[in-house]
Amino acid sequence: MSLRAQSLRALVVALTASVLAPLSFGQGVAPPDGRYEGQRVVRVQTPTAEEIESMRAMGAGLWSCSERLGCTEYHVDVEQFATLQESGLQFDVLHENVETLIEAEFDRQQLRGADFYDIYRSHFEVDQQLATLAELRPDLARVFVVGSTIEGRFVRGIHIGRTDGERKALLIQGCQHAREWVTVMATTFMAEYIVRNADIDQQVDDLLNEMEFFIIPIVNPDGYEWTRSGHRLWRKNRRRHLDFNYGVDLNRNWGVGWGVGSGSSNQTISDVFRGAAPFSEPETRNIRDFVARNNLIVGHLDVHCFSQLVLGPWAYKTSPAPDADELDPVGQGMASRMTSEHGEAFFYGTGGQGIGYLAAGVAPDWSYGEHGARAYTFELRDRGQDGFLLPANQILPASEEALAGALHLAENLVIPCRADLNGDGVVNEQDLSIILGSWATEQAVGDVTRDARVGPQDIAHLLGTWGPCR
Ligand SMILES: [Zn+2]
Repeated sequence: MSLRAQSLRALVVALTASVLAPLSFGQGVAPPDGRYEGQRVVRVQTPTAEEIESMRAMGAGLWSCSERLGCTEYHVDVEQFATLQESGLQFDVLHENVETLIEAEFDRQQLRGADFYDIYRSHFEVDQQLATLAELRPDLARVFVVGSTIEGRFVRGIHIGRTDGERKALLIQGCQHAREWVTVMATTFMAEYIVRNADIDQQVDDLLNEMEFFIIPIVNPDGYEWTRSGHRLWRKNRRRHLDFNYGVDLNRNWGVGWGVGSGSSNQTISDVFRGAAPFSEPETRNIRDFVARNNLIVGHLDVHCFSQLVLGPWAYKTSPAPDADELDPVGQGMASRMTSEHGEAFFYGTGGQGIGYLAAGVAPDWSYGEHGARAYTFELRDRGQDGFLLPANQILPASEEALAGALHLAENLVIPCRADLNGDGVVNEQDLSIILGSWATEQAVGDVTRDARVGPQDIAHLLGTWGPCR
């Protein structure tokens, strides 16, 4: 090799190292630095929006995914705790020191296991995992970029399907809220399971013959990496405001119900700050525009933690959704599938009424309200014992529960059309005659109930889904 070629090679190596260095930096979780020392977790009685407003005014950190009529958990520093004691609000102390909880999580995170799902993974590691899956099955999966964030990170997702953009699709997303780490792992797990079991698991195999999946594990990578750099309980994105406060609650920034009532805050310091306008944030705009480009998305699952709930529309108001008759049984079905996975109880309700969440401008209200998608929120494990600091040995069971729920939703997106055998968008006499013909000739085409025989049960199914299907 000539001297010139050698020095060129040295330059390339040096440049490559400097480019790769920031990528490898920060893959571990930063050790606790005392930031949360002396903070307590309190459960405050919040029978009306008034108590919630008092806690917002105090600047208390929200210690759950949503504020709730009835009671809401917060983490408060020494000063806020003193204010709370003088406020006359009713409360219990659940944890005396948040820092010790975070130290315990850090210790667990150091026990690096062999399996991807043994510990919580960085944004970089998750993107690598998606790329690995796409390389494993290029016929079935591809990585796509949804857009970029305020700090310039790419938001990536994985498309899984035997077709691409031709069949109805379910969009699954995780980590709108930065500190909800298990949602990152659970959504990645769903993608991995579907790709690796596409031809093995009969249910997945069947689904992939009828639909497609889009899975975006980390909607808010800026916030996620911020939580991994020591600010463990950060919730919002990383927008810097003119008053030097940071962050918009992405799940209060969507365009249906935005800013309505007490379901969000207009104060930049608040954990539920809704942003200056609907879709003011690139992270929510990314997905809004992605859904507009993919008009076959008919289901939307927004994965959060914790509380072990499945939530249907609406979140921002108490009136029932126009399609509650269809939405509620599917939501209940998801909760019961998730419960039967490991015996951990999950409950279904609407955010605004059944569960009493105060949440306006959330993703599923938008995708249902704007696009008619069958849209739900998952609140994964646990029920508050460890909350956001869910021990890593629960990543797998929590992910299996999420998968069971998601597949149930997927089934219910395709079932209404299984009897549309000629694919003309309507279940009618023509499909009936196909079933009758298939019954007479013992052909599999009429087996819409997937029980390996053609008979009266298939006709009953057809009559049950008679009419237009979507
Ligand atoms: Zn959340």
